[in-house]
Amino acid sequence: MKICMIGTGYVGLVTGTCFAETGNDVICVDIDRDKIDQLNRGHIPIYEPGLDEMIKRNMKEGRLAFTTDLAHGVKASLFIFIAVGTPSSDDGSANLSSVWSVSREIGKHMNGYKIVVTKSTVPVGTTERVKEIIAQETREPFDVASNPEFLKEGAAIDDFMKPDRVVIGTNDPRVTELLKELYEPFVRTGKPILAMDIRSSELTKYAANAMLATRISFMNEIANLCERLGADVNLVRRGIGSDPRIGSSFLFPGVGYGGSCFPKDVKAIIKFGLEAGYEMKILPMVEEVNQQQKRLLADKVIAYFGNMIQGKKVAIWGLSFKPRTDDMRDAPSIEIINRLLAAGAVIAAFDPVAINETKKIFGDRITYGAKNYDVLQDADALLLITEWNEFREPDFEKIKGLMKNPVIFDGRNIYDSKKLAEKGFIYFGIGLTP
Ligand code: NAD
Repeated sequence: MKICMIGTGYVGLVTGTCFAETGNDVICVDIDRDKIDQLNRGHIPIYEPGLDEMIKRNMKEGRLAFTTDLAHGVKASLFIFIAVGTPSSDDGSANLSSVWSVSREIGKHMNGYKIVVTKSTVPVGTTERVKEIIAQETREPFDVASNPEFLKEGAAIDDFMKPDRVVIGTNDPRVTELLKELYEPFVRTGKPILAMDIRSSELTKYAANAMLATRISFMNEIANLCERLGADVNLVRRGIGSDPRIGSSFLFPGVGYGGSCFPKDVKAIIKFGLEAGYEMKILPMVEEVNQQQKRLLADKVIAYFGNMIQGKKVAIWGLSFKPRTDDMRDAPSIEIINRLLAAGAVIAAFDPVAINETKKIFGDRITYGAKNYDVLQDADALLLITEWNEFREPDFEKIKGLMKNPVIFDGRNIYDSKKLAEKGFIYFGIGLTP
């Protein structure tokens, strides 16, 4: 099938490439000329495991192309996916300006029947509005559909190639059939393609992210309670996770959720809920708990030094909002570092892939290590913020030898507090008995 993917970011690039991988002809369009030039030179602008070689293979086979020419992409395709960003506006609502401008452009360049699909996460009613905007520009026949994306950065290719489910929102059974055909190769193991109306499909994406954010904030509150009551959240987590009604995934307390989706999507659902006349009660608290949690680790460090943190060297391991991505959007590390800098600490940070993105935020206000041990020289404390696999089994003797004080603040509870105590470390986790 002929596909045009408009917006070549984390979602558009992965999705477009995976559609090409199953034999479709895909044209990826972006407004960012530099990004398109990089892709055409074979340089992949984001870090996503496995993506590089898949892009190169499909470009070579002639199934995947990159352009800034939206008209060409639209004219050549049956399916037009909108995968542009929908970031937060100042009032918390989703900023849909890119969706609207792309819709107008699609309308202007229609040359026959098309199916326009919102792949971006968009508030309920957006896909209907996209239809109106396109209809103002063209008399060509077209349909619209909603097809929210559930991939996770860091595992995006696997998630897209083997999804837990595919959600398709259409008001027309023929469009459902065509989209099912497109997705058939991805659900051969029997995972469902869930066809529903457009509004339910749009809301499904927000409900999923809001539920996951709620789980995180809930566990962070239980962790905070554990610290005050002398309980161990690692044990409580296992205790509740073994109940199949609860399940064991996504129950890890930490430094709060971040990234390009949960924070903005929680804000947006609250906002469009209000606009629809319904004030959501739980989600504003989920956000508040998350804000509090993002401050917690930095405040623990500051308190440890008895508010005398001025000039102390704090080493940081892990900067991206989660492992296996270079995405720094709304990463908890930003809040933590800002708080420590404001208190007078000196920061030396390391991340396996997110250093370049971090430099765009902090520049030379902090220093960076080329390897994880580099940042530990004479450090007064080590903070583990993002649980990259390579941090899980470090050489603790080496760490102790490098640091001025063997103090570890573990924002993800990846280390064993008892073992570290035996090795002579002072250790702080999240929700653990001191
Ligand atoms: P992104 O910022 O990485 O990419 C968006 C791309 O759209 C950018 O390359 C930008 O240049 C391009 N763009 C903006 N305006 C354009 C225009 N007028 N014409 C052409 N291109 C334009 O964003 P993303 O992370 O890929 O997210 C895209 C959407 O998918 C969002 O709605 C997001 O909520 C949703 N989503 C993201 C993820 C994720 O993990 N990142 C997962 C599921 C859903």
